[in-house]
Amino acid sequence: MAKRMVVLGGGESGAGAALLGAQLGYEVFVSDKGSIAQKHKDQLRSLQIEFEEGRHSDAKILNADVVVKSPGIPSTVPLVQQLVQQGTEVIGEVELASRFAAGTIIAITGSNGKTTTTNLIYHILKNAGRDVAMVGNVGASFAGALAQKQHDIWVVEVSSFQLDDCNTFKPHIAVLTNITPDHLNRYEYKLENYAKSKMSIAQRQDANDFFIHCPDDEITKEYVQLVPIEINKIAFSQEENLEEGAYRINDTIYIKDKQKTLEMSVYDLSLQGRHNVYNSMAAAIVANVMGIRKETIRQSLQDFQNLEHRMESVAFVRGIQFINDSKATNVNSTWYALESMTKKVVWIAGGVNKGNDYSSVVPLAKEKVSALICLGTDNAHLKDAFGDVIPVIEETQSMAAAVKMGYYLAKKDEAVLLSPACASFDLFSNYEDRGNQFKQFVREL
Ligand code: ADP
Repeated sequence: MAKRMVVLGGGESGAGAALLGAQLGYEVFVSDKGSIAQKHKDQLRSLQIEFEEGRHSDAKILNADVVVKSPGIPSTVPLVQQLVQQGTEVIGEVELASRFAAGTIIAITGSNGKTTTTNLIYHILKNAGRDVAMVGNVGASFAGALAQKQHDIWVVEVSSFQLDDCNTFKPHIAVLTNITPDHLNRYEYKLENYAKSKMSIAQRQDANDFFIHCPDDEITKEYVQLVPIEINKIAFSQEENLEEGAYRINDTIYIKDKQKTLEMSVYDLSLQGRHNVYNSMAAAIVANVMGIRKETIRQSLQDFQNLEHRMESVAFVRGIQFINDSKATNVNSTWYALESMTKKVVWIAGGVNKGNDYSSVVPLAKEKVSALICLGTDNAHLKDAFGDVIPVIEETQSMAAAVKMGYYLAKKDEAVLLSPACASFDLFSNYEDRGNQFKQFVREL
């Protein structure tokens, strides 16, 4: 009799896991407590995969041989606890896919910069003519893509939640961009737990594998000792010169290994800003490890197209630049956004506050921000943090109004920057919706 795979959560990763499960010969059942998108229902129906929505039927779940759970479901929910207690294996979709992926796995995690770094790595490998797929948090699920086709190389963006649901996942190259407090609600509000989760990306690596990390990041530095000693560690830094790895002297970056050095001006990088120098360095190291030619790496870092919602220059209206950084959903990413600004800024921020500590942003706000527009249902925290620092503070609950205010408050040659430092769920469906509304109202000015 076919083994039974139950998939909890019918989103992108759940649907992908179901497709792969069916292909591997499992009898698959998908259960989602909420609703399943039409696109995924059509996919499941076309393969005669049974599913339910709006509930979890215990009787159809507890008899599973293996359960693949969505990263959105914490392992503390009673159903998952019950499965674990009765000895049923509960894994994530990345874990499932990695067991059957034949190619080389490059995995990227971190608090900020994952998607950018993942895209950069993919872009370089693609330009080098490699058979590579980009999967994970970035769009297509790993399992879904694998169900379609095997690839020589998998570039996988993994969140800490996905890492928590792995027990054999072993990337050949692991990149940790940085660690700053985020999602602490899932980690008993302990930074240590969150940091350990991120570090687990290297847990099963061995002497043939590579771990790429940033010692400028205090928290990474503190926890890097958890990475097994025999693994090849390569660092990228803008603060210290390194014997091997990537480093910066003035405006030049160096990517160095035992044989050669690649040199590049930071002004030639397609992605600007200090944070993107880090992302470009990390991607270049990966490409170097993969044996890509210097010229291809250089060219790819120069011609990379910026991603939507990340410091995306939307338009200039009467000399005022409008920049969409809606993806900045925590304080650290907004810090980098403001840091990279070379002109005065009218700053639109706010939303769902994840316990934000704004103190690191205060000096930048003093120096660069002429007005703050708070865009959230509860703006008290922002007003407290910046009331004495920024001369003009406005408040609204509508993007249309925020964009208009920005337009009136900004002077010629200044910028209106949407970089919220908060999640979007109070007023928008997600960060994409927030960014798209911003762009739409800018275009209507
Ligand atoms: P993630 O996938 O980890 O959320 P993204 O690449 O989508 O990261 O970038 C999200 C936001 O974080 C961007 O808007 C940008 O302002 C900021 N950011 C990007 N890279 C970094 C980095 N290396 N360090 C800090 N902030 C960054």
